[in-house]
Amino acid sequence: MLLQRLSGPVMAVREAAPASDMEQINALSNPPLLPLTADDIHIRRCRLAGDAVDSQYGCFRRHDLPKVLDLTHGAPALIGHNRLSIPVARFFGGSVEEHEGHHYIVPKFYWPKAHSSAEDFRVLLDAGIIAEASIAFSFDKPSCSICGKDIRECEHEPGAHYGLKLCHYYYDGIDRVLEGSFVYRGAEPGTGILAEMADLKRTIKGRKTISVRIGGRTYEAISGKDEG
Ligand SMILES: [Zn+2]
Repeated sequence: MLLQRLSGPVMAVREAAPASDMEQINALSNPPLLPLTADDIHIRRCRLAGDAVDSQYGCFRRHDLPKVLDLTHGAPALIGHNRLSIPVARFFGGSVEEHEGHHYIVPKFYWPKAHSSAEDFRVLLDAGIIAEASIAFSFDKPSCSICGKDIRECEHEPGAHYGLKLCHYYYDGIDRVLEGSFVYRGAEPGTGILAEMADLKRTIKGRKTISVRIGGRTYEAISGKDEG
């Protein structure tokens, strides 16, 4: 199983939560212990993952996007990938939407107004300070776009051209959406995406180095484990 993390922008929802949103939230597995009403929560949306080739040459198949959205339903949302902290929000519902010629999952997320930090979080989101959400998921097989084989085992290199075709890979066998996180715009541009994608690519090609991002610099390290 491979892990991946992708980011997308957070968007404001100006209208009040429709009744269908509240039904979806109250029907989640492990639902709110006390049924919530539209007055109890804030709701926003974010564009997370799509069928455009990403910066490290992975992409979803368009027909898998509804499944990815389904798997995101109910996933917890954290701040800055801090898995030691309590989640601040929860993903639910949403839709697959077109944006600049590609399709993306756009889940919604909610958080309770009664939380002591709820208003701070809302202000940071609506002011564009927290401008990206990043989602972590696992999948089985990176399938080569050129030959269809597992790209860890074929001769093609992600990012290289073969004739007019750019080699990339598909996230196949998507298994779980683990969590989503909100990150500060500009604080750590590309963090998570860069490090994890680079790791994946190296792992993919059976090399034993990993890259670690510390203080905005990327360091190469020798991995003790050969996962290739
Ligand atoms: Zn190939």
